[in-house]
Amino acid sequence: MNDLSRRRFLKISTAAAGAVAASGAVLKAAQRATRKPSAGIQNIPTYCDICFWKCGAIAYLKDGELWKIEGNPDDPLSRGRLCPRGTGGIGAHTDPDRLRAPLMKKSVRGAEEWVEVTWDEALNFIAKKMREIKAKHGPESMALFSHGIGGNFLKHTFKAFGSPNIAAPSFAQCRGPRDVGFRLTFGEDVSSPERTDIKNAQCLVLIGSHLGENMHNTQVQEFAEAIEKGASVIVVDPRFSIAASKAKYYLPIKPGTDNALLLAWMNVLVTEGRYDKEFVQKHGFGFPQFAAEISSFTPEWAYPETGIDPELIRASAREMAKHRPATLVHPGRHVTWYGDDAQRSRAIALLNALFGNWGRKGGFYFPVSMDVPGYPYPAYPKPTREKVDNPGHRYPFAHETITTGIREATISEKPYPIKGWFVYATNLFHALPNEAETIQAIQNLDLLVVIDVIPSEIAGWADVVLPESVYLERHDDLNVEWFREPFVALRQPVIEAPHDQKPNWWMARELAIKLGLGAYYPWKHIEEYFEHRLNAAGLSYAELKKNGIIRGAKQPIYFDEGVPIQFPTPSGKVEFFSLQLQQAGFDPVPKYRRPAAGPPGSFRLLYGRAPVHSFSRTHTNRILMDMMDTNEVWPNADVAMRMGLKSGDRVRLRNQDGILSNSIRVKATERIRTDCVYMVHGFGHTAKGMRFAFGKGASDAQLITRYEIDPLMGGTAMNVNFVTIEPETAHG
Ligand code: SF4
Repeated sequence: MNDLSRRRFLKISTAAAGAVAASGAVLKAAQRATRKPSAGIQNIPTYCDICFWKCGAIAYLKDGELWKIEGNPDDPLSRGRLCPRGTGGIGAHTDPDRLRAPLMKKSVRGAEEWVEVTWDEALNFIAKKMREIKAKHGPESMALFSHGIGGNFLKHTFKAFGSPNIAAPSFAQCRGPRDVGFRLTFGEDVSSPERTDIKNAQCLVLIGSHLGENMHNTQVQEFAEAIEKGASVIVVDPRFSIAASKAKYYLPIKPGTDNALLLAWMNVLVTEGRYDKEFVQKHGFGFPQFAAEISSFTPEWAYPETGIDPELIRASAREMAKHRPATLVHPGRHVTWYGDDAQRSRAIALLNALFGNWGRKGGFYFPVSMDVPGYPYPAYPKPTREKVDNPGHRYPFAHETITTGIREATISEKPYPIKGWFVYATNLFHALPNEAETIQAIQNLDLLVVIDVIPSEIAGWADVVLPESVYLERHDDLNVEWFREPFVALRQPVIEAPHDQKPNWWMARELAIKLGLGAYYPWKHIEEYFEHRLNAAGLSYAELKKNGIIRGAKQPIYFDEGVPIQFPTPSGKVEFFSLQLQQAGFDPVPKYRRPAAGPPGSFRLLYGRAPVHSFSRTHTNRILMDMMDTNEVWPNADVAMRMGLKSGDRVRLRNQDGILSNSIRVKATERIRTDCVYMVHGFGHTAKGMRFAFGKGASDAQLITRYEIDPLMGGTAMNVNFVTIEPETAHG
């Protein structure tokens, strides 16, 4: 059992965090106030962390204070321009709601309270608990949930400790099905940043991908470039997104029926002979079986399923064929929708294969990377037990750890108990579906440590909260990206942390030393680590510090430029028919499965991104909240009128399991179908320490009580929830 009789959510407030007089945080602030700032303007290159895209940036200081952040023109990701979130990064540094010093949950005079402690006290406590868990249950009983490059050193400490249970929501709650679908087809996944040659595409197909609202800087810039060059855009989405406004063909599909459309598109291309026959003949495996399987899925068959006119299906398929091989069907990113997501992604991969665009300009290029060797650490101990998340390999094509599999094992203690969680930079209450299961798992822990910059919901459940410095105040690992061209980028401190916050590399190293794992950290400061790796690559750290980026020589990225043609699938070819899937008991060619309908009178709940926020992480950033401080629910205008609602009215949403949302404003619009509603993800915070975000908008995550598991890879499909709309007046 944990130290507390029953773990509960405690609200962290800045007042609680400042409870101990003369703490490290207070001292640091006082020292800073008396320090003389350097006069004039300085500029320091780094890379952004407001989302995971890692755009190269230049931060400007004026008289020692942060002034502005711009894109680094030498950086191939940002190309000298940041997205609105990156520009607003200063708000992360000045955020008054930040965590300021390590906090521990303790019983004070019989009541649970947050108590500010020193770093030594916090890390000693964590190391002691980790040793106890290791002695009783084995090192594998500690799990790490981590998001972004900042977690690299914690992962290193975890591996040195002997735990293989390291997971990121980016797999099972986001891009995992896509990578599995593409691996099964081409033998390689799409990677991140995606290897999509958007800027050279002559026809770009977006299926539920709202580029522009989903602000991945490079992709959005390339999208704009493609449009400027006259690319034809086809958008499939139940909601008329910003991208749809650029489309030649907009297909307002019935949610959950994308596979029917994809099969019909492929049917048109094959029956009309509009696919790349030479590519398929040379590089395809099982094409005749594939063609036979899809022969009955005509546009007329797809019409009642998808709601898309057969002639629109035909016309859009012919438009795609006209531009091949420079036709790119974007694989998407957050694709955990309906439970058949890996097969839908495989259908998208097959559609791309029909255009012969793999390795071709305007399709999928071959990413390259700078050769920067890793640090020569001692070998990690070999865990004596397999990862806990996928017992018996029940999801045979999962190639990364399944977060919700760790959660399930924490509840069931099978195949073995998980007794400690470290949660780094991910608010699990907004990232994972079904928050009741997350709470149930947390109740079973002996230790929960949260590392974050803000007092998020997950932090309120922790035993220990460790405040991280924001990206503008810290070093992180070198960014050696797989991209169009090789490069290495540096994140370095631009300004000091205002209180007692620390960088993650420091925490990971200090903890390792306290655990007796100091041999895994032969370097004392991360700059020694950088020097070592860069020297091994023949690169100069001084140059990297000065410019923020070192670019390598351009390399071939297309077949036509000399990239050897190979498909690392079992057949060595593009698998139109998958024997691996057949042998594992799955459909070797994707099939359509009609989605389950919701209760009468309900609407399918769809959610997405906004260009000025990242997940639920940016809602205490005053600059970004000034641009968008709440979300709205979008019902169709006719639906709203029938319900007597208009834009600006306040409502609550109730899901199929009776969960009621916060109050949320209505945006009645023609831009969405009548059978669904839409909201931006990440709002509706319940953590009171997030003062500026608390109670603003409604949380989609709270309404996502149901999820379907992808049988191929364990992803959790979340677009399977339904809501009714209740006027706020009904709730007083
Ligand atoms: S896409 Fe925007 S938020 Fe993300 S790293 Fe780039 S500039 Fe920063």
